Amino acid sequence: MIVVMKLNAPETQVEQVKKRIVEMGFTPHVIHGVEKQVIGAVGDKSGQRLPGELETLEGVEKVLPISSPYKLVSREVKDQDSVIKVGEVEIGNRDLPVMAGPCAVESYEQVSSIGRFLKDAGVPVLRGGAYKPRTSPYSFQGLELEGLEILYQVGKETGLKIVTEVLSPSDVETVSSYADMLQVGARNMQNYPLLKEVGKSSMPVLLKRGMASPVEEWLMSAEYILAEGNERVVLCERGIRTFENYTRTTLDISSVPLVKQLSHLPVIVDPSHSGGSWKLVPSLSRAAVSAGADGLIIEVHHNPPEAWCDGGQSLNYQNFLELLKELQPVADAVGRNLSLSMEEHKVKEAHIL
Ligand code: PEP
Ligand code: MN
Repeated sequence: MIVVMKLNAPETQVEQVKKRIVEMGFTPHVIHGVEKQVIGAVGDKSGQRLPGELETLEGVEKVLPISSPYKLVSREVKDQDSVIKVGEVEIGNRDLPVMAGPCAVESYEQVSSIGRFLKDAGVPVLRGGAYKPRTSPYSFQGLELEGLEILYQVGKETGLKIVTEVLSPSDVETVSSYADMLQVGARNMQNYPLLKEVGKSSMPVLLKRGMASPVEEWLMSAEYILAEGNERVVLCERGIRTFENYTRTTLDISSVPLVKQLSHLPVIVDPSHSGGSWKLVPSLSRAAVSAGADGLIIEVHHNPPEAWCDGGQSLNYQNFLELLKELQPVADAVGRNLSLSMEEHKVKEAHIL
């Protein structure tokens, strides 16, 4: 259920309501709106009929049931879009942050070269896997701690924010000390111990959609994180399995407007893992932005044919710059601010020519 407080209800009244919610056996979560505070009461008993008694407490405007199975991530508890900050980068407002970088961290030289290029191209967030969830146990599994150190170092040198994947609950603390945002990958979307652990942290979390998961299960996974107290969740559509084999997965473009109707959380799109081919990345990116995505995460490599992982879907520098140029009018058309501080010829001179 949600308890909607009256306009400007004082903190003492909010505390009183929270106390009563705890006494009733629920867990209170205060959701700060622009005008009014709303208190979500969640727990095992939330399917039961509402105790009308809460409505009689001072400062309470109304008490409403939440009809969706997910509660804290639902639009029902919060009308306004959540804006998640990664350092000074904001996701979920009119800005359109692009995150980019290699699939995997391979060496300091590689990440440093890509990081400096991306910085000059105006990209605010660098991606790169230090712990890689590979389908085959014989594939490269990532540089692990050494990879984290490289990301941290390049982050410090360039000022880029770092997003990187965490595979196991026991690594959350370590990864948090090197990164600015934790990525939970598609294969771990329903790893509940991991979701609970990132939920206990105060780091922003990028939650990818499982490749065989309906939108409702994806939102339920986000609910796990919020229920532990971490509201800093950004969803990421990365394609789902269908019968189509020409693409790695099928970008479910409809999930973008759908999630925005169902939830207040931001949603970004990963066109690289969706299509699985660099040639599809520009069109899928434009489609994502026009469908209302709050950002993109794109694989970029200085030499894709030599990449240790996902080279076939990684853009080289030239193609990435072209993609950014093509995105600009699409972003303008849907009222989004791509805000790239790029001087193309200088970036080309420094990194390509
Ligand atoms: C990745 O982003 O490197 C990755 C492995 O993606 P996904 O979890 O979407 O497959
Ligand atoms: Mn990859």
